[in-house]
Amino acid sequence: MSVSPAGRPPNVVFIMSDDHAAHAVSAYGSRINRTPGIDRIAERGMRLDSAFCTNSICAPSRAAILTGTYNHVNGVTTLDTPLDNSLVTFPRLLREAGYQTAMIGKWHLGHGPNADPAGFDFWRVLPGQGHYYDPVMLAADGEVVERGGYVTDLITDDCIDWIDRRDPDRPFLLLCHHKAPHRRWEPAPRHAALFDGVDIPEPETMFEDLIDGHADRAAVVRAMRMRLMDLDPIYDLKAPVPDGLDSEAELRWRYQRYIKDYLRVVAAVDEGVDRILDHLEAIGVADDTIVVYTSDQGFFLGDHGWFDKRLMYEESLRMPFLVSYPRRVEPGSSSDAMVLNVDVAPTILEWCGVEVPEWMQGRSAVPVLEGEPPVDWRSSMYYRYWMHRDGAHNVPAHLGVRTATEKLICYYNDPCDQPGANGPVDPIEWEFFDLASDPFETTNLIGDPSRAADVERLRGELARLQAEVGDRWP
Ligand code: CA
Repeated sequence: MSVSPAGRPPNVVFIMSDDHAAHAVSAYGSRINRTPGIDRIAERGMRLDSAFCTNSICAPSRAAILTGTYNHVNGVTTLDTPLDNSLVTFPRLLREAGYQTAMIGKWHLGHGPNADPAGFDFWRVLPGQGHYYDPVMLAADGEVVERGGYVTDLITDDCIDWIDRRDPDRPFLLLCHHKAPHRRWEPAPRHAALFDGVDIPEPETMFEDLIDGHADRAAVVRAMRMRLMDLDPIYDLKAPVPDGLDSEAELRWRYQRYIKDYLRVVAAVDEGVDRILDHLEAIGVADDTIVVYTSDQGFFLGDHGWFDKRLMYEESLRMPFLVSYPRRVEPGSSSDAMVLNVDVAPTILEWCGVEVPEWMQGRSAVPVLEGEPPVDWRSSMYYRYWMHRDGAHNVPAHLGVRTATEKLICYYNDPCDQPGANGPVDPIEWEFFDLASDPFETTNLIGDPSRAADVERLRGELARLQAEVGDRWP
């Protein structure tokens, strides 16, 4: 076990929310809200500006984080596949190395003897998605915890209680996994009126669909049901659409209803982070504790007229990722190095002085976080979303490659690899975006003859990455 300069191995507090986009974090320059609690981690540490998930959907990203492997390896390719809890995860390895470990909040990787959280001294989790108000929580030995209160506050309370109950002579790992701000965005009563009377700024691309019906995009993307217009007024927006609105006015109304509840729910997460940071300082362990704030993926906040995630476009692909560790990370720093969800496990293991297993596919980002990125650090990443036209959103299966400046996406559109799938097989379609000149990915250059060589080069890179991670063409 490695020892920090103060003579103590680091503690780890890993805070992960569900569906919190980086562009709703003020440390990332949010135009729509402030997150002073979360920002404290950026002020004390590093902001990663190119942190990406390898599959932008909840359970698969969580599995990639815990195991350090891609979804075709850990088996959690879709929302419906539990994580086999006999698999080795970084919490299990830390526990074996003498750490006290806890998992509190949203698990979302299945339940039962083969899927309950494993590798933890203590766990208390929401069943499935859980509820915002008066949530039931499950624990070891069949315990069912029923309490009144707001989910984000209860998870925070449980985290602080567990920190206080730990053995102060041994290092600890705490996974604090919030349900918020997952759909259906139900705020704490104290935040119910936050943003009342305020117009939240609209994203630049919100009217893309009204302007041209996403004309540049693949047909399977145009066929998705992920538009703000697809939100259910009563279930999601909690109010009927007012009479007499034209489509532009209705889109604006829908956006305000949607984004205000989303940001109200984020506000409670931010307060929870603030409380945990205060507590670490109060008990004198802040300098010896690695604190991470992230989310399992990004989210569309009305960008392109959409909500939700799943797609490989930037707003959904990018994870907020802030790391403080005062003994090792420069305060107020940032990095453009491409860090992936599969890197989390090897990074934490290395900092804690535990050997990273050969089979883990991510790479430790410790050198990046300590300000000395290796010259051979990755310059491209592999992505795959497996659930072809599954469920309510009708999002196509796709895979792709992103470099610092370009992105190639292949909608392979074949449900054959999706367990239980019965969707249609659609024609393969491709998209290519130049991120340097088109950061919002509004112009698909796949058919532009002047970019044909770039497309060909990226096809080669996609094949190389696919072979490197051991996936196969669908
Ligand atoms: Ca999620």
